[in-house]
Amino acid sequence: MENCVFCKIVNKEITAQIIYEDSDFLAFLDINPQSPGHTQVIPKKHVRWVWDCENAGSYFEIAKKIALAQRKAFNTDFILSKIVGDEVPHAHIWVFPNSEVKGDKKDFEGNAKKIRGNI
Ligand SMILES: [Zn+2]
Repeated sequence: MENCVFCKIVNKEITAQIIYEDSDFLAFLDINPQSPGHTQVIPKKHVRWVWDCENAGSYFEIAKKIALAQRKAFNTDFILSKIVGDEVPHAHIWVFPNSEVKGDKKDFEGNAKKIRGNI
């Protein structure tokens, strides 16, 4: 969809630290992280809400994959997730470690590497 910032990330018109990508889904670091490694998991196809996503089961498997990688990357079992959808009008699931994990939340390259290395 035109002017959708997440579609622009899908189309590589805007750069982001990509954590995971397959034919249907994309995971990348949030530019305003709540904690180190805060990731957005989105369907590549533009849909407004998570509940509009046709393959919601696969979508949640990807969110789980990211959460399990964050557990290892940040040495914690406490991974939060959030589905709200008001900030960007493209379905997204927040997956992020609790704020007590060690690390610099603005070290996007380092945090992306850590998570990717544990997928
Ligand atoms: Zn979009």
